[in-house]
Amino acid sequence: MPDLSEQGIIENSARMSLDTAFSFRCGPDMPCFNRCCNDVSILLSPYDVLRMKRGLHMDSSQFLEKYTFTMRSRDKRVPVVFLRMDEQSRNCPLVTGSGCGVYAHRPWACRMYPLGMAEPKGPNAAAGRFYFRVEEPLCKGHGEPCEHTVREWIESQHLDPFDQMQAVFLEFMSHPKWETSAPLSEKQLDMYFMSLYDLDRFRRFVMDTRFLDLFEVDEARVEAIARDDEDLLEFAFDWLAFLLFHEKRMKMRAPADAGATAVAAHEER
Ligand code: SF4
Ligand code: SF4
Repeated sequence: MPDLSEQGIIENSARMSLDTAFSFRCGPDMPCFNRCCNDVSILLSPYDVLRMKRGLHMDSSQFLEKYTFTMRSRDKRVPVVFLRMDEQSRNCPLVTGSGCGVYAHRPWACRMYPLGMAEPKGPNAAAGRFYFRVEEPLCKGHGEPCEHTVREWIESQHLDPFDQMQAVFLEFMSHPKWETSAPLSEKQLDMYFMSLYDLDRFRRFVMDTRFLDLFEVDEARVEAIARDDEDLLEFAFDWLAFLLFHEKRMKMRAPADAGATAVAAHEER
């Protein structure tokens, strides 16, 4: 098994740039077809959850309950969401005889395979972003004579919207206040999880409570977040930056502690 820990990747992986060429092919005619969708650890970003629940036409709460499990991250002690494998077969619950059951909305990690991307921090930051091969022994696609550059692969997998939303998420998670603030309370953790992952519940929190009486939100933005999940997720980052880090990204109608009042209104429901 490849060592996919951050240190393992930095020390052992050959670094690839966008112009590096590699050979790989995948398709239903491969003898290993679907085997890569068994017993895998897939971390889901907020945007992965948005796309998957959209592709499955599910409410976000139902999607999270049925297909994911949540752990606490080691560093910031915030919830992190993983795709849950079937307990008996260890298959991804979304795999079908003809491939991925949510292919057009599959998560970032499934699109990127057989590549990974690293952006080292701290003492290794000088290396900058690089790509690397993930070579699962069971995958026969690595020996296939079908050449791509990393750039071509990324384009062919339609990764742009994932990368754009992930950049917003990473910027939020790199906020210096994470290092200096007290750990999040249970109420803050619930708000964090709802705002970023449970988007349909977050929409009800914004639209169906006193939230919009407490905050001035531009009418066009209210309309956008009422109908568009991407707009709602971008709004969630502004809301959390205001609530957790006191950034002036939200405008209160009254000078009271509207963040706390809004959270209280959420809890009363
Ligand atoms: S194991 Fe590799 S080649 Fe086989 S189906 Fe999965 S990604 Fe494709
Ligand atoms: S989401 Fe799709 S591609 Fe990813 S592991 Fe599940 S079935 Fe495979």
